[in-house]
Amino acid sequence: MSSSSDPTVRQTPAVAATGDATDTILATTQLTKKFGGLTAVDNVDFTIDDGEIRCLIGPNGAGKSTLLELITGQLRPTKGGIYFDGQDLTDLEPHERIDTGISVKFQSPHVYENLTVEQNLRIPLQRTDRDTDAVLEQTLEEISLTEQVEMTAGDLSHGQQQRLEIGMAVTLNPTLMLLDEPVAGMSVEETREVAELIRSLHDDGMAFVVVEHDMEFVTEISDQVTVLNQGQIFRQGPIEEIKADDAVRRIYLGENA
Ligand code: ADP
Ligand code: MG
Repeated sequence: MSSSSDPTVRQTPAVAATGDATDTILATTQLTKKFGGLTAVDNVDFTIDDGEIRCLIGPNGAGKSTLLELITGQLRPTKGGIYFDGQDLTDLEPHERIDTGISVKFQSPHVYENLTVEQNLRIPLQRTDRDTDAVLEQTLEEISLTEQVEMTAGDLSHGQQQRLEIGMAVTLNPTLMLLDEPVAGMSVEETREVAELIRSLHDDGMAFVVVEHDMEFVTEISDQVTVLNQGQIFRQGPIEEIKADDAVRRIYLGENA
């Protein structure tokens, strides 16, 4: 019998929220970030199940990027906790959080334009003991850049650069991947390729939190959607329900619901 069922053994909050006995892989509790007088993230209790694809939507300034940066440790919370896979991340450095199994692609592009595709992919692999050549080959195939392996990243199309950056995060084989606006500025065809990439990684068990405005893309990849507004969770539910919600439409039109 596991110790978790013994009432005399006290569980840490992290194990209780995201340990082996629950499907929840990520949980934030009362997570809050203030910038001076502005509360960008306001008492957010946000949970993700192991292996799910969750889209995070909401108007500009709603706090979506801030929430992701709190989870990765780029920002420190004013208040609240962040638990992942049975561990308390709240006081960990960003690189320590990566080692627990979280990878991220931020909103602004981060590829090294003067390096080749292969050199870019080798950078994150330096921090792992994975079989570099095997992972490289597999990742190139997943992001459909095998033929571009020797190209300089700066010469790739916008869509290819975005896929390369997702690939850099994928090389770490994360349990949870955070993507901030992965298809912004992409053509319909490029967007479809990213949707396919996310779905195939999801089929292999990877969980995702994806911030995105493109509702067609959101509909294609996610079941559950979280709507953030003014730093708070405004709605959460299946995409079809969210799309039909009048209050959600109003906040997108700039009215306060
Ligand atoms: P979203 O990604 O949903 O568009 P953000 O998380 O980027 O929103 O921003 C949420 C709010 O916090 C906005 O009002 C933004 O201006 C503010 N904000 C974000 N980062 C900072 C910062 N480093 N300093 C001050 N204010 C910030
Ligand atoms: Mg943002």
